[in-house]
Amino acid sequence: MNIDRSVGLYKTAQEFMPGGVNSPVRACKSVGFTPLFIDHADGSKIYDENQNEFIDYVCSWGPNILGHANKRVINAVKNACDSGLTFGACHKGEITLARLIKKHYPNMQKLRLVNSGTEGTMSAIRAARGYTNRDMIVKFEGCYHGHSDGLLVSAGSGLLTNSIPSSGGVPKGATENTLLAKYNDEQSVEDIFKKYGEQIACVIVEPCAANMGVVPPKNGFLKFLRDITLKYDSVLIFDEVITGFRLSIGGAADYYGITPDMTVLGKIVGGGMPLAVYGGLEEIMNCVAPLGSVYQAGTLSGNPIAVAAGIEIINILEGNENIYNELEQKSKKIETAFVNKGLNVNRQGSLMTVFFNEKTVENYNDAQQCDTQKYAKYYDYMLNNGIYIAPSQFEAMFVSYAHSNEDIEKTCETIEKL
Ligand SMILES: *Cc1c(COP(=O)(O)O)cnc(C)c1O
Repeated sequence: MNIDRSVGLYKTAQEFMPGGVNSPVRACKSVGFTPLFIDHADGSKIYDENQNEFIDYVCSWGPNILGHANKRVINAVKNACDSGLTFGACHKGEITLARLIKKHYPNMQKLRLVNSGTEGTMSAIRAARGYTNRDMIVKFEGCYHGHSDGLLVSAGSGLLTNSIPSSGGVPKGATENTLLAKYNDEQSVEDIFKKYGEQIACVIVEPCAANMGVVPPKNGFLKFLRDITLKYDSVLIFDEVITGFRLSIGGAADYYGITPDMTVLGKIVGGGMPLAVYGGLEEIMNCVAPLGSVYQAGTLSGNPIAVAAGIEIINILEGNENIYNELEQKSKKIETAFVNKGLNVNRQGSLMTVFFNEKTVENYNDAQQCDTQKYAKYYDYMLNNGIYIAPSQFEAMFVSYAHSNEDIEKTCETIEKL
């Protein structure tokens, strides 16, 4: 495979951006590969600067559930552009999108449109703290909720102590109210609540974890979180930035039948444009300015172009009941190909990860045991066979509605020859 154009561009990019990238995983460091520079993408395919063609299972890390460059979404964006790129003022589209979201996420009685998942989770936590008048939050090891200071934590000397920053540039004070629990481990949550229960503003969780590779919740785990947060009057926040409109049109809440107090959406909800949403029960959201004291704002919030893309993608998802069935069938075929090779795969709907680990992965600790060298080899093999997957063991493989039966067959055959 000739990638000389990407090699050249990557060299130049490093003169301008740290590591040559605008988001670290793109540097492909953990697989030791040169990042491909993308020229264009269409449907299930992505093309680099050398015009190498790949079947894409990264799908922009989730947003492209309909594949790349969906005609209807693009037309909606083009039409919106003609009326102006940003107003910084109210417009009808905001109401249309909010109504569509609330229809599928009824716990989001009120919501705010923001620009990124990071902003959404950060703002949801602030609202939960303002509502409860409490400072502490609980998050889970291996769950990712964007890069705001208080969420970049790793465990301190013990799980029941306050966490320490996992990133440079984050002051100790910023993480001292973040408590870390173990995913799928009810006892770890119980222990934290026993000690700090009355001080915990919220529990934030990926209802199906997808940022340590895909790790579905064990039976009863989400129900347990629902019950314990109710018991202690803490707010339960589902970070559905990946799972929203992915596991089903109503996201993980609908898929697992558990209703949180607050929900954060991102990725798919913007149809490929920078858009995210946080919202929840009215009494919580009424704490947000200008009604309440919790400040949150945004020059480009509710941007008309992003809103137009969001409305259109939800309309398409609503208009075709078969999408989620088809995604399930196609994803299952790929899963089966991995299983037939004796590989360890976690899947939930159209999200899956093959783990180079003998043991079933149920939490962050298990994920950390994976052989990332083997993953790097697998990545290299897939890429050289025209299949574009995440350059890291700890990411999901995203199947889209644009993946044809032929794409799936080719993918399965490639896996068979692994
Ligand atoms: C991607 C992601 C985020 C962060 O969203 P950005 O738009 O990248 O800021 C937050 N939570 C989860 C679960 C995500 O997958």
